[in-house]
Amino acid sequence: MKIIVAAKMVTDPNIKVRALSDGSGPDLASVKMAMNPFDEIAVEEAVRLKEAGIATEVVVVSIGPAKATETLRTALAMGADRGLLIRADQPVEPLAVAKLLKAVVAKESPDLVLTGKQAIDDDSNQTGQMLAALLGWGQATFASKVTVADGALQVTREVDGGLQTISVRLPAVVTADLRLKEPRYASLPNIMKAKKKPITEKTPEDYAVNVAPRLTVIRVEEPPARQAGIKVATVQELFQRLHSEAGVL
Ligand code: AMP
Repeated sequence: MKIIVAAKMVTDPNIKVRALSDGSGPDLASVKMAMNPFDEIAVEEAVRLKEAGIATEVVVVSIGPAKATETLRTALAMGADRGLLIRADQPVEPLAVAKLLKAVVAKESPDLVLTGKQAIDDDSNQTGQMLAALLGWGQATFASKVTVADGALQVTREVDGGLQTISVRLPAVVTADLRLKEPRYASLPNIMKAKKKPITEKTPEDYAVNVAPRLTVIRVEEPPARQAGIKVATVQELFQRLHSEAGVL
């Protein structure tokens, strides 16, 4: 089984991103970048399937600027076999990403495409679903457990209020949720080995995909600063304030 994993470079989830003062977007100048956390989970799932002898090859694809090579190297250090960077210096919207991944699928003929459930920068939660639709493949989104048997996947999905288990015929698209796997830290020897693994570089034009944006960001603003709390002297005062000021009682 051949697996493609889509891994996006996003702002490091541990840093606080500020909005630009003119509200035109987030301030990304000299901000630390990292692999989207859900994509790390997807890479981990793919690598575990390879270690279990189920997958034969894991190819990681990233669409982004030259720096996204670092995201690919991280995936290679975790155990993926080779990388593909589709170089785009402007943000690429989910539909264009899905079209590019579809073109990659046409060239690579994988049995499974793994993506994260959403990218933490745009929170779109669209790419995996759009890719499955464009390919006409089955999809299992928000996966928290995947087992492979007889040309199909059994996928447990995290749905509101519980878990749903479905069977999906291969080839398929699966999007990784938080509990699917705990991503490993790459060891130093594996980081060194990853430097020798191949990364191919392409452009959207190589796949004849137009990545011009269809959406216009009107305004990006930070949430209002939290008001300072107050200390109350008695339980009675607490009830009284909850009643008269907060209006919750
Ligand atoms: P989104 O629909 O933007 O929330 O992204 C969902 C998933 O699609 C991500 O977790 C990635 O696996 C994949 N994806 C989105 N954008 C990219 C990109 N530029 N490069 C690689 N994978 C991407």
